[in-house]
Amino acid sequence: MTGMTSTARPFLNRRLAEFGTTVFAEMSALALRTGSINLGQGFPDTDGPEEVREAAVRALRDGRGNQYPPGPGVPELRTAIAEHQHRRYGLTFDPDTEVLVTAGATEAIAATLLALLEPGDEVVALEPYYDSYAACIAMAGAARVPVTLRPDPEQARFRLDLDELRDAVTDRTRLLLINTPHNPTGTVLTREELTAVAELAVERDLLVVTDEVYEHLVFDGAEHVPLATLPGMRERTVTIGSAGKTFSFTGWKVGWVTASPGLVSAVRSAKQFLTYVSSGPFQYAVAEALALPDTYFDAFRTDMLAKRDLLAAGLTEAGFAVYRPAGTYFITTDIRPLGESDGYAFCRSLPERAGVVAIPNAVFYDHREAGAPFVRFAFCKQKTVLEEATERLRSLTA
Ligand SMILES: *Cc1c(COP(=O)(O)O)cnc(C)c1O
Repeated sequence: MTGMTSTARPFLNRRLAEFGTTVFAEMSALALRTGSINLGQGFPDTDGPEEVREAAVRALRDGRGNQYPPGPGVPELRTAIAEHQHRRYGLTFDPDTEVLVTAGATEAIAATLLALLEPGDEVVALEPYYDSYAACIAMAGAARVPVTLRPDPEQARFRLDLDELRDAVTDRTRLLLINTPHNPTGTVLTREELTAVAELAVERDLLVVTDEVYEHLVFDGAEHVPLATLPGMRERTVTIGSAGKTFSFTGWKVGWVTASPGLVSAVRSAKQFLTYVSSGPFQYAVAEALALPDTYFDAFRTDMLAKRDLLAAGLTEAGFAVYRPAGTYFITTDIRPLGESDGYAFCRSLPERAGVVAIPNAVFYDHREAGAPFVRFAFCKQKTVLEEATERLRSLTA
């Protein structure tokens, strides 16, 4: 991938050489130095529900989870995850054999890829991709095969080209790595797109790993379709979820895997030697969070929707072409209407020019040119922060 600096290079092994330091470190440092508003990194600037915080305090005080919790996760949380999947999607998972708690979705991704991949295997992944995918595929000694999500001006969204997806699969393909709702494009893959993914997986006998950490952030009547609900997919899909984004506690690092017993058992084999266990008291709190009534999830979505609209309007006014996201808390923009074409150079100059930090999507691509004109802004920030940011961005065209 691109956009990485190389201070680690003298010691870093060849598998990880291209992943020296991420663009986030560079841009966050730039934000600090210039006093810019940081819409680069995607974490909320307010904490999640008070009662969930209190649940964590209670667990900690009551001595629940202060010592190593069980390897697969505390039973209360595994049960809550299974019940959540059943309540929302009608999927049935056995909490004892089909649910695994991890140190965030990040560890779930790492453990899954390290467990399932042989060196030389190919992984077909949607590009642009979440940055840890490429690094974990590399750590597993496998090769990534990107399928580029293409902007569709008519649909005003990034979409999956099903022919490109088919063509990417070879005899060496071991698994498909999917992410919906999709970071950074904000695309929510449609039932039609996902059905094609499922049919391909069945036809070519592939495993599918699906990162659904934004499952609760879908807007405008878009529907989140879990891949595991589609025909033939329950047995071949590893679904990854996380409390970080849904409950605005990204620092707690509570994530999970749901899959058939054989797959969960394989992932657990890798996971036990990464962290073994993590986040003890927070696991109890997340169990309570997952059982919150629908009103919580609805209010969370409504709040984020208002923020999306605020930032989208501001970016449009500032001269960006905006791909209004159907999901996640990111907006991908096209900077060409501003007379710019290099997102990386643009993001490097934006703090000086406007006092705002964003992330160049190119760093999430192997085909860097395909991502060059796109820039990502996060809107999981307080309304006043977003208002100030859009005010500042107006200076770009003033
Ligand atoms: C934030 C994010 C993750 C990581 O989730 P954690 O639970 O914080 O580890 C994984 N995938 C995507 C697409 C994300 O945006």
